[in-house]
Amino acid sequence: MAEAYDPGNIFAKILRGEIPSHRVYEDDAIVAFMDVMPQGAGHTLVVPKAPSRNMLDADPATLGPLFAVVQKIAVAVKKAFNADGVTVMQFNEPASGQTVYHLHVHVVPRFEGVPLKPHSGQMEKPEVLAENAGKIRAALGG
Ligand code: AMP
Repeated sequence: MAEAYDPGNIFAKILRGEIPSHRVYEDDAIVAFMDVMPQGAGHTLVVPKAPSRNMLDADPATLGPLFAVVQKIAVAVKKAFNADGVTVMQFNEPASGQTVYHLHVHVVPRFEGVPLKPHSGQMEKPEVLAENAGKIRAALGG
């Protein structure tokens, strides 16, 4: 049986505004903010507001709107960072590499010949995250 959703997880706290994040997008159902340990500049997380541990227990009705926003963010990060491509990743349960148990999708701009940095690796400086968030917001707006 699947484990229960824990409303104390860090993304639930971000969604409730209890801890800060560098937000780039928000609508009724979805929020996107910068990953604090980016695997590349511009690494963004797209998070539905509806609670689920991951994709395995999500309401299927959540997934269409979620991936529509993933596409928006992928187009925006490619433009914002003049990237060659975009990697989209999503992990389910510890064996897959999941570390935060609220459904989210990783969107990472990619450059020819540049490998991804390690998952949940080094913390980025807040000023760099703020600057990158600004670039993505500008790309979304224009
Ligand atoms: P996953 O392994 O797919 O569960 O990914 C969780 C991601 O959340 C990792 O890439 C972490 O770097 C990122 N992360 C952890 N804490 C925070 C936070 N407070 N704000 C933004 N991203 C976070």
